[in-house]
Amino acid sequence: MVNPNKLRFICTRCGNCCTDRNTLVNVTYLDILQIIKGLKLDLTESLEIFGFNVFENSLTSTDLKKMVIPPVKTEKGLAFLALMKNDEGKCCFYDKAKKKCLIYELRPIFCKSFPFTFTLSHDKDKSSRESVEIRYTEKAKEYCPGIDNDSPLVDFNYLIDLAQTTLKELRDNRSYIELWNKEIKSKRISPSAKNFLRKIFEISED
Ligand code: SF4
Ligand code: SF4
Repeated sequence: MVNPNKLRFICTRCGNCCTDRNTLVNVTYLDILQIIKGLKLDLTESLEIFGFNVFENSLTSTDLKKMVIPPVKTEKGLAFLALMKNDEGKCCFYDKAKKKCLIYELRPIFCKSFPFTFTLSHDKDKSSRESVEIRYTEKAKEYCPGIDNDSPLVDFNYLIDLAQTTLKELRDNRSYIELWNKEIKSKRISPSAKNFLRKIFEISED
């Protein structure tokens, strides 16, 4: 693990993280809620923005435990929710000409936390701030020029606050998806992508 006091980052606006073909821009249900409210989308429009990426291979319980965002049960199988991309791998909200995110203030938590990833340490009190481990993501090591040795050190308190916000959102999202998956299992609702989004719209109207 990199010492969190020595993590470096400045965004060079290269666009790699928004255009990499092999990077899924995962979204939590709270990201979806924020984007549909912020952009005033209707259900049809939201189906063009949020993609349900169905796993081709079956997942073991060990695979499922490792995932920070659990997959959603749909009529086509377990799926990861992510922002749509074009055929070249560009996120639907990336403006290539201006090199900028078109929904910067509304961008998903994974975009806000990139190039860092956060995990709770198991050997310390989970409620303690010091129990969070902070690293660069594997994707950042692969293609983010903003984390090289010439970049400025990142403020430690900023990182800890970001970690706390991210981990809380991921926990809330896990609970939300587990509830959805339970409802599907008990056949209380139909497992369509449209229904999944519809339920989030119902929250947005509360
Ligand atoms: S890959 Fe790194 S430097 Fe490039 S746009 Fe993304 S965060 Fe910024
Ligand atoms: S939402 Fe914005 S920051 Fe996130 S991948 Fe898309 S363009 Fe990039």
